[in-house]
Amino acid sequence: MSVEPSEYVKRLPVGQRIAFPAEGIPGWEIFPFEGDLRIKVLEQPVLPEPPRQGEEGAENCQACATPDAEYIWTDEYWRLKGYGPAAVPAVLMLEPRGHHDQSDLPVERATEIGPLFQRIERAVMGLGGIARVHNYRFGDGATHLHYWFFARPEGMMQLRGSCLAIWDDLLPKAPEAEWAETKRRIAAAMATDGGIAHV
Ligand SMILES: [Zn+2]
Repeated sequence: MSVEPSEYVKRLPVGQRIAFPAEGIPGWEIFPFEGDLRIKVLEQPVLPEPPRQGEEGAENCQACATPDAEYIWTDEYWRLKGYGPAAVPAVLMLEPRGHHDQSDLPVERATEIGPLFQRIERAVMGLGGIARVHNYRFGDGATHLHYWFFARPEGMMQLRGSCLAIWDDLLPKAPEAEWAETKRRIAAAMATDGGIAHV
């Protein structure tokens, strides 16, 4: 854990007002906002960084403390959560059952990720009306490894690419009954290849 800023951080324009680059994201077709915007001023670095949720171990981890019933599908080693109601057609989170981050995930689990990602993508595509399933891994909030899956509705070209998660925050959420049916269908599709559907 560093206590001194890196050469990279020292180079950043901390505390200064900067303008959008000429080819910057507000000019992109997929950018969700319009009108006068400005970039936030960068704050001073925080070193060492504060601990993430679950950093102390499994006994302090929210993911480890969550029962299987709150997931839509589980198997011996993995658990899939519906995160919503979503505004995009589906938002899911995949977690290993064990308290691991990506770098310390046992190799047996790490080799399961590729096939699992394929299963999840096929399950979401099976809803119909889905053009793409994007997956992300950030991990800045919690230690326990979690992969995000966001479904992009077919035909909605403005929702392409890296702003999809922002659009999910902006658009109206799905009605509860529709979201429940979405989760049920995804869980059922997952369970056809093993594991247990909980919804
Ligand atoms: Zn955990």
